[in-house]
Amino acid sequence: MDKAAMYKLTYGLFVLTAKDGAKDNGCIINTAMQVTTTPNRIIIVVNKQNYTHDMIMKTKEFNVSCLSEEVTFDIFKHFGFQSGRDVDKMESRSYPRAENDIVYLDEMSSAYISGKVISETDMGTHTMFLADVTDAKVLGEAEPVSYSYYQKHIKPAPQPSKNVGWVCKICGYVYEGEDLPEDFICPICKHPASDFERR
Ligand code: FE
Repeated sequence: MDKAAMYKLTYGLFVLTAKDGAKDNGCIINTAMQVTTTPNRIIIVVNKQNYTHDMIMKTKEFNVSCLSEEVTFDIFKHFGFQSGRDVDKMESRSYPRAENDIVYLDEMSSAYISGKVISETDMGTHTMFLADVTDAKVLGEAEPVSYSYYQKHIKPAPQPSKNVGWVCKICGYVYEGEDLPEDFICPICKHPASDFERR
């Protein structure tokens, strides 16, 4: 099997936000799509390790901010490479709230879509949420960013070096050394050794 074929599927990149009581939080996801227009429904797929996942399980509501091609790597570091269990991701600036009182990203984002969960499907490492679209708004004219655009233009290029090593395919971090330990976790984005490739 040619696993590279899997990279020919197209994905976007999104900031997924939720609110549980006074707690706001958000994470990065790459799987969100409209599945029916009447009724207007979307699915999102979220890794169970994300704190935002547990908040949506409890509250059944979320916003999806559709990142644009203007997005910077800092947004991925801020929302994707640290956990809301350890830090308050919303304290650095104030974010606007949608009708559902959940924050959304109003810059580097083409639109936001609010969802109310109808059902959850356990997918092992992830949960797939099916949701009614309760609100949505276009925020700018910039093109929505695709995962391949992120890979080519937003993720920092690995620093050139003669040393052998392994490159994280998610964030570009370089591990220098002949053998990458099987249980290695990327210190930047926390992805496992399976997301590294030899350079
Ligand atoms: Fe990484």
